[in-house]
Amino acid sequence: MKLTFLGTRGYIDVRTRRHYRHASLLVTHKKTRIMIDCGIDWERKVHDINADAIFITHAHPDHAWGLKKGAPCPVYATRESWEILKNYPVEHRLVKPKHKISLGGITLQAFPVVHSIRAPAVGYRITAARKSFFYVPDLIDIVDRHKALHGAKLYIGDGATITRPMVRRKGDKLFGHTTIRAQLGWCQQEEVPRAIFSHCGTQIVGGDGRKLGALIRRLGKERGVDVSVAHDGMEIML
Ligand SMILES: [Zn+2]
Ligand SMILES: [Zn+2]
Repeated sequence: MKLTFLGTRGYIDVRTRRHYRHASLLVTHKKTRIMIDCGIDWERKVHDINADAIFITHAHPDHAWGLKKGAPCPVYATRESWEILKNYPVEHRLVKPKHKISLGGITLQAFPVVHSIRAPAVGYRITAARKSFFYVPDLIDIVDRHKALHGAKLYIGDGATITRPMVRRKGDKLFGHTTIRAQLGWCQQEEVPRAIFSHCGTQIVGGDGRKLGALIRRLGKERGVDVSVAHDGMEIML
């Protein structure tokens, strides 16, 4: 299967050529094309992707608002996301946590993650030709982390921050973003050999790419994980 990082920018003001549009991934296997997330940056562009289906992780602007004026294919999202996006003029399909949905040889399974109180989020475990990877652009933690990650060849995670957690609390609920360092720790624990970070925050997008790249590679090396930062247009084969 081929993975194309259509966009790699988080919900931030800065943009560069490498991180130009909101985080979105295109998964291609044989003739099937699935787009994951469609933020405001994709509002006009979504018709150019030629996707067979779009899956949404959560209803935040940088993940779903590109669908405000419609989509060229069915859109899959959880009940909580549809509550927020209910008036969108798209073909609604329901994603239930842990249920597997198969389209043209690609299987997607949603896992709830801790990220937002108002817009509950999921990550997707995606499998094709017996290879699995996990995609989660925004999170503090995966609720059932072991089931989500075990046996995965690749983890694609939240690049909002490298070592300083962006976690806030409201009552007993947490929201925000965990660090790249913490996510690499999960990969080590679950023996996921490779990690790529998308949904890049101001630290990566506005920072010194070479210096930060070296820091991130060192964090990976310490945990035995081969790690890189995605940029718009990057493609990998899995
Ligand atoms: Zn986001
Ligand atoms: Zn979010």
